[in-house]
Amino acid sequence: MQSPNSNQLPKVLVLGTGGTIAGVATEHPAQGGYRAAALDVSQLVAAAPGIERLAVLQAEQLASLDSKDMRAHVWSLLARRIAPWLAQPDVAGCVITHGSDTLEETAYFLQCVLPAGKPVVLTAAMRPATALSADGPRNLYDAVQVAASAEAVGRGVLCVVHGRVHGACDVTKAHPTAVDAFSSGERGPLGFAGSQGVLFTRSIPASSDPRPLPLPQAQPWPRVELVGSHASADGAVVRALLAASARGDLAPPLAGLVVQGTGGGTVHEDLQQALDEAETAGVRVAYGSRIGALLGGPYDGLNAVKIRVRLMLELAAAGAH
Ligand code: ASP
Repeated sequence: MQSPNSNQLPKVLVLGTGGTIAGVATEHPAQGGYRAAALDVSQLVAAAPGIERLAVLQAEQLASLDSKDMRAHVWSLLARRIAPWLAQPDVAGCVITHGSDTLEETAYFLQCVLPAGKPVVLTAAMRPATALSADGPRNLYDAVQVAASAEAVGRGVLCVVHGRVHGACDVTKAHPTAVDAFSSGERGPLGFAGSQGVLFTRSIPASSDPRPLPLPQAQPWPRVELVGSHASADGAVVRALLAASARGDLAPPLAGLVVQGTGGGTVHEDLQQALDEAETAGVRVAYGSRIGALLGGPYDGLNAVKIRVRLMLELAAAGAH
C-alpha cells in the first residue's frame, strides 16, 4: 500500500496468521456463526483508516488459523520469513496479526529465536472484524505505529493490544472476553500506543532478554508436555506419559515436562515422586506456577507455557528429538 510521500515512510511487513482479528460473526449480539481466520490480512489493512500514512506496508498471509491450533510448523514459517525481512537495511519492522489465545507463546518463541533489534509486534482482537466496535483496526493501526517507531528498536518482540505495549516475556492473556485482555502482571506494560503516538514508560529488565536459541531445523520438535499440581495430584499422568514413551507410542518421545506448580512453584508430594522418576528416566523437568510467572531461577519471569517453549528450544539445541 503506497501513500503520496511513501519514499520517506518506514517499511513494515504485516503477516497474517488468522485469529479473531480476522474473524467474522454472522449474528449479533451472541456472535453466532463465529469463525476465526476468515479474512485475508490485506482486508484487515484496508479496514484501518490512515494506516497507509504510518508506513509502506507489505501484507502477506502466512497462515489462517484459530490460534488455539497454533503449531511448530507455523512458528518456523514466521521465523524464516521475518529474519531475512528484518535484515534488509531499509525496513523498519514487522507486525503479525494473531489470535489472542496463544499470542504470548508465539511472541516468546520469536523473542527466543530472532536477533534483538528491529521491532516485531504481535497484535490481536477480542471482537471479530464484523462486530460492532471491532477492536482489530485500532489494534492493527497501533501495532504498525510501534513497528515503525525508532523508539521500539531493541525492546524485543512486543504485543500491542488496547493501546498498551507489552514485552514478550511479560505478556499474558488474562481475560477471556474483555478488549483489554492482555496484561504484563505487576510489572505493567512497557508503554502505550494511541492517538498520542508511541510512548515507552519502562525498559525491559535484563532477565527478560533471553539468550538467543537456534530455530530447530528438523521437525518434529522435542516433545515437552505440561502437567499440573493440584489437590490429589498423584503422578498418574506423568507415569502414563513415561510408559507410552517407553513403549514407542509417542512420536516424538517424551523429552521434557513443565510443571504448573501451586503458588511459588510447589508440587504435591505424590506428583513429585513421579517427576523424580521422569528425571531418572532422562526427561528434563522444569518448574513453573499455575498462578503466573515465577521470579528467580533459570526461567525467571516466565509463566509455564513460555517455560515450555524455552525448554523445547533448549532440548532441540542440545540435539534431543
Ligand atoms: N480463538 C481465537 C484465536 O486465538 C481467539 C482470538 O483471536 O481472540 O485465534
